[in-house]
Amino acid sequence: MNSPIEIWNHVRTLMEQEMTATTINTWFDDVTAVALTENTFIIHTPSDWKKDVITTRYIPSVQKALHELFSADFEVKVLGEGELESYRSGKKSNFLPGSEGYTFDNFVVGSSNKFAHAAALSVADRPGESYNPLFIYGESGLGKTHLLYAIAHKIHEQHPDYRIIYIKGDTFTNELIQAIREGRNQEFREKYRFADVFLMDDVQFIAGKESTQEEFFHTFNTLYEAKRQIVLTSDRPPKDMLRLEERLKTRFEWGLPVDIQPPDYETRMAIIKNKAIHLGISLPDGVIQYIAENVTANVRQLEGTVNKLLAYQQLLGDNVDVNTVSRAVRDMFRDKSDVLPTSDVIIEEVCKFYNIEADALRGQSRTKDTAQARQIAMYQIRRLTTLSLKEIGKEFGNRDHTTVLHSIDRIEKQVKQSPEIAEIVKDITANINARYE
Ligand code: ADP
Ligand code: MG
Repeated sequence: MNSPIEIWNHVRTLMEQEMTATTINTWFDDVTAVALTENTFIIHTPSDWKKDVITTRYIPSVQKALHELFSADFEVKVLGEGELESYRSGKKSNFLPGSEGYTFDNFVVGSSNKFAHAAALSVADRPGESYNPLFIYGESGLGKTHLLYAIAHKIHEQHPDYRIIYIKGDTFTNELIQAIREGRNQEFREKYRFADVFLMDDVQFIAGKESTQEEFFHTFNTLYEAKRQIVLTSDRPPKDMLRLEERLKTRFEWGLPVDIQPPDYETRMAIIKNKAIHLGISLPDGVIQYIAENVTANVRQLEGTVNKLLAYQQLLGDNVDVNTVSRAVRDMFRDKSDVLPTSDVIIEEVCKFYNIEADALRGQSRTKDTAQARQIAMYQIRRLTTLSLKEIGKEFGNRDHTTVLHSIDRIEKQVKQSPEIAEIVKDITANINARYE
């Protein structure tokens, strides 16, 4: 008698001895059993008013029957209309959706990432007790987010009750701005300062934003003093974050900064093999070597190549050989350089960076921030697209081409004179390129 359905049949039989048939038929006819967990028996009724009646009047009867069957006390939970679906999907684990598979098991360790991996593992095993903060940095596509998620999963497994926060630097910024606008500062504060584990991905995005850095500074201190584990990732080491406040820079270096380098040949081979196994595709040694020799920049590209091969194989039913591979590799790189960013995307990214509306940027607003952002947008469009000065002017409320030229010249000069401005341009460019990866 283990299935919930069998249990429910027994419970009903026992209840029939105490209630009239009419009561049973009225309230329990369409009840179904959902699950018996360690201490809870879960049933479902499709109608919300029956759920209310059962919950207020009949739970003790169900509990009594369960006690007779198991000689143990159970909670009884009644699901109503629509709740069965959410119960089932919720059970599938709603912990960090989208991060499934980014685990330590799936992370290939090589000389380029072994320190970062070891540090991540140590932090996951003893959160708050080894390195705090752990600061992982390296270029895009080398596995920083993967490690951060792996830490989250491992801690969640070992401490299901821990409040684990994963947040990206730019999301933190946007949420804070929204919270300030809506007068919910306190709520925002509590959300992050009461975390047991605080993971911030791409922390470089908070640099240069005054209110964000201020808030983050206090969040950091609160968590740190309470010995809560903090892990940060970034595309550069703290000392190279030019627009980051000094007091944050110092704190980021308190624990352990470790870098991830592009994978060496051996690691590339191992990663390709690992990805192929996961995708269920078998690659001849020559093919694996070819990819490892030709795709060298980062792991994301290696993955992309293997995915492409899978698509080819499904499409052509081919045996994958070196010819197919060289085509896949060439495709990978051609795809990328063929696509030029559009002015819309550039404007969107500049606006996101400065937190202003596209309409303001394209329009006549002359506030200092907007004016600077507009000039940077013009400069970026000129650099990254083939649009003429006149066409660029059109994007900004039909501004004259000499105005556009003047703006571009100004930014060009600033980029040369100011490392901070150069960094801003570089960061926005990276965000634009990321949209086409
Ligand atoms: P980053 O955050 O540094 O830009 P990601 O963590 O998003 O990089 O990694 C890019 C892709 O490469 C992900 O799909 C990730 O699973 C994979 N990847 C990176 N490093 C490894 C590794 N060492 N082993 C297996 N997969 C990896
Ligand atoms: Mg990442």
